[in-house]
Parts: sequence; C-alpha cells; structure tokens
Amino acid sequence: MTDRIFFEEGLDLFKNAPLEELQRRAIFIRNQKNSPHQVTFILDSNPNYTNVCHIDCSFCAFYRHKGAKGAYTKTVEEVMGHLEKARQAGLKTVLLQGGINDDLKIDYYINLVKMAREHYPDIHPHFFTAIEIWNVARISNLTIEEVLKALWEAGLRTLPGGGAEILSERVRLGISPKKMDPDGWIHVHKAAHKIGYKTTATMMYGHIEEPHDILVHLEKIRQAQDEVPGFTSFIPWSYKRERTALRRTVKHWAGSDAYFRILSFSRIYLDNFPHVGASWFGEGKENGIKSLHYGADDFGGTLMEENVHRATGWINRVDHNDMLRMIRKAGFEPAQRNSFYEVIQTYEGIEKVEIPPAQRVNEKDRLPDLKTCLSQANFFT
Ligand code: SF4
Repeated sequence: MTDRIFFEEGLDLFKNAPLEELQRRAIFIRNQKNSPHQVTFILDSNPNYTNVCHIDCSFCAFYRHKGAKGAYTKTVEEVMGHLEKARQAGLKTVLLQGGINDDLKIDYYINLVKMAREHYPDIHPHFFTAIEIWNVARISNLTIEEVLKALWEAGLRTLPGGGAEILSERVRLGISPKKMDPDGWIHVHKAAHKIGYKTTATMMYGHIEEPHDILVHLEKIRQAQDEVPGFTSFIPWSYKRERTALRRTVKHWAGSDAYFRILSFSRIYLDNFPHVGASWFGEGKENGIKSLHYGADDFGGTLMEENVHRATGWINRVDHNDMLRMIRKAGFEPAQRNSFYEVIQTYEGIEKVEIPPAQRVNEKDRLPDLKTCLSQANFFT
C-alpha cells in the first residue's frame, strides 16, 4: 500500500515530475494491484441508438439536431440488429450510448435493456452514460434513482463512464455549457453504485483544461469512490479536433507524451481504482502499445462498431487476433475480460484464434500505426 497523495502535492507532481519518475511509480502501483505480466481486453462493439442531441458540445462531431440532415433515431428492433451483429461476431459486450434526445422516454430505455437480455443473454449490455440517465429522468419526471432502479430491474448491471470530459465547472462552461454540471455526473455514478451497478470513469483531455482542472477531475472521482465504491476502471483519452467546432480554439492534438503523463499520473493518484485503461483506439496502435508501460493494466475493447470518434475522421479497427498481437508486442500476456473486469479467457499456448467472418476487419479500416491515423485525420491542420 502506498501513501495517498493529496491535491497540492499531486498538482506539483503532475506538472513538474519527470515522465520517467511518474512511469516508474505508476508501474510499481499497477503491479501491486494487478498481475504484472497480464493485460486484459474485451471483445465489444459500440453502436448508437440515436445521434439526435441538443446539448451542442463544441468537441463533438457526432450529434445532429432533430430534423437535421443525417439525424437518426433507431427503433428498439433496429438496435437489436446491432446486438445480432455482435453475436455473429462472437463479441461479449455491447456498449450502447446515444445523443440527448427528448423524444425518448424511460419506456424506450427499459425496452432496450429487456429485449437485449431476453434475446441476447450471452451479450452483456453496457448501456447509457450518466448524461443519458440524467436526461431520461428529466423528461420522464423521475428521479435519477428511479431511472437507475427501473433499468436495474430490466437487467442492466454496468454503465459506461463517458460524458465526463473534465469534471471542472470552468471547463464545462467553456466546452459544453448545456450539459449537466460535474456534480450531476458524480451523482449519477454514486447513485448507481449504491444500487449495485459497476461503472467506469473517463476523462477527455487536450482542449481548454489546465493541470488544475485535471486534478479537480481526479479528486472528484477518487472521493466518489471513497464514499460509494463501484468504479472498476479509469480510462482517459484525448480530444479529437476534426469536424468539431472547438477546433477553431484548440489547434493541436495533445500528443503522446501528454497521454503517457496522464495515464501514469492517474495510476498514482487514483489509489482506490482497481484498474486503469489504456487505448489502442484513441491514441493510435503504436502509442497504445507503448502506453501499456505507463501503468495501465487494460487495453479496452475491439469496438467493432464505433461512430463517435469515426465522426471526426478517426478510423482504426482491430479484431481478436490484433488484440493478442498488440498486447504481446508490448511484452504482456493477453487475457480476455468481461465488463466486471473478471478474466474469462487466457491464451497460454494459443497464438491465434479463429475469427468469425462477421468480426473480420475491412483492410481499409485497419490502419497500421499512428502516423497513418494522423495523416488520415489531419490532426495538425
Ligand atoms: S458529446 Fe454527447 S451530449 Fe455532447 S453533443 Fe455529442 S452526443 Fe450530445
């Protein structure tokens, strides 16, 4: 057990410590909390049920206003089509999220969960971020707790941690002033934990935040975890500029050193989080592989369908064997997990697995390295 680092000391460490020192300390903590030789991943997909949204986050290229060209809302049956695709591809989890669409009341969300549980019992529903829960409560005249209980009764057990961005009021007012405030995000997660849900926490950095805001974010989620444990993992990713309004203000991608610093510092600061997740997806495959040496013990999902980053031009696909290869390239043994972070398969002596045709990656989407991703997405323009 290492001693807890408090806010001021943490801020100083985050701003001033050499990256190598953060890395060394993060690896030490990671290896105390998790198997030193193992990195986990999940076979999942990330479809969306609607892109209609009125929150107008300036960093988002995914949403459309109601009635606008390209706006869509799927029926429950259409969403089940995505679960069917996931089943055919041999996936274990579907992470489902959507825009903030006032036409969809609580019954729609309950039906999504019930139908998924009934027709696809082998696929874990990892549905709805905090702001979706908040909006369903608002438009259905229910409390957050009532919405969460209704979804629990329908069969939901975990929530994804998206929509947090940076949990600092200053930052929210700068990039998504119509969104619920940071305490609202924390309230939803704590209410979920009280009921028994497991959730993740995320952070999207690399826009208008200062180091102080990052500390505020980490402090809030650490405190929430002290009060009502239930977070399984912390997963940071960088803001992607293309096709978003915020690119007029933010001229550059944060870069790999910023990512490694945030990953390793969060592993040190979040002493009550069991896992920290790195990403092959959000930062490019080469940086993803390197990032496993900065304190992360999980490599995220295969994300067979993904539209939110894709809307910014960020296309980067992998299959089950790519996951095994990337984790081994980093020097670790891969292990498949479920959404509760329990290991469900190890691969000792297994170099390759059979890939169902539905999981195969279209070669034009299988970008080999960060350089190619960056040139595709014009990050530095
Ligand atoms: S990030 Fe979410 S809430 Fe914000 S505009 Fe996009 S879809 Fe809407």
